[in-house]
Amino acid sequence: MEILAFIYFDPMYFVYVGPALLIAALAQWKVKSAYAHGNKYNASSGLTGAQTAQRILDAYGIGNVSIEAAKTFLGDHYDPKHKVLRLSPEVYQGRTLSSVGIAAHEVGHAIQDFKVYAPLAIRNGLVPMASIGTQFSFALIFAGIILSSWMDMPGARYIAVVGLGLFGATVVFQLINLPVEFNASSRAREILQQQGIVTAAEDKIVGKVLNAAAMTYVAATLTAILTMLYYASIVFGRRD
Ligand SMILES: [Zn+2]
Repeated sequence: MEILAFIYFDPMYFVYVGPALLIAALAQWKVKSAYAHGNKYNASSGLTGAQTAQRILDAYGIGNVSIEAAKTFLGDHYDPKHKVLRLSPEVYQGRTLSSVGIAAHEVGHAIQDFKVYAPLAIRNGLVPMASIGTQFSFALIFAGIILSSWMDMPGARYIAVVGLGLFGATVVFQLINLPVEFNASSRAREILQQQGIVTAAEDKIVGKVLNAAAMTYVAATLTAILTMLYYASIVFGRRD
């Protein structure tokens, strides 16, 4: 009946995934504090996030990307399908180093799209597979484990293996997402200085905001990898 412990409380889960959950919590805290710190200072150029984004798009001759105000807090993203840069109200209207830094990071994704940066193309290609993986992998893993252990159907273990494979798509997505995010941030910092939107001293503060944001992606990737290892240890290992 170890399956009961597995569903309700399994200390092994925390042995596997605990370190990643701690790093994720730390990253969240760092993002909040770096974002608040960057919000204390206005960029010396005096541009808003939206104006910064437009200035960079113009400098690169990217004319097919529009900038919209998104409704959600920290919901900033670039939509490669519709060629839209959506910026949260704080980033869209804000003139702070946090607003300008986040806006430039999102334009970094638009530039990646414009230049057909391979990791971004691969990441976008993986989106449907990864979202199916996240939706169905756990259902298949649980069904496989329950059928094979409880119902004494050893063959059902393969259902769990298929679930693990699907979850693998999520892990691959998270891994390929890392170079995409790091590259967008390094482009952003370089362009902001080139365009004279922030000074070298201001870049240090922008860097802290963007590095903290990158850490949340590292934590998400680690969580996905360790979660997969945890489920693999149950599916393939004998824990009775
Ligand atoms: Zn990004």
